[in-house]
Amino acid sequence: MTSAIINDGSVWCPFCEIPIQLLKIPTAARLVAVSRQSIYRYIEAGDIYAIKVAGHAYRVCGHCLIKQPGNKDFLNQHKKCLKM
Ligand SMILES: [Zn+2]
Repeated sequence: MTSAIINDGSVWCPFCEIPIQLLKIPTAARLVAVSRQSIYRYIEAGDIYAIKVAGHAYRVCGHCLIKQPGNKDFLNQHKKCLKM
């Protein structure tokens, strides 16, 4: 998987087809109120766009995350919190 850096930390998400901000795992987990393990499951399943950084750390696309089944209701409740 390749990633194109757009500017100031924004990257092009090939899943969402928009420029997105990558989130750290704990941030991502908080965003959709799931465990970190769930985030890793999404990554392993290829359900969300993820980039490996600094060895073992991942950054994930928050937009992909909120598109996952079960997270949509959460998004609707927290729309104003998300700068998307
Ligand atoms: Zn995405």
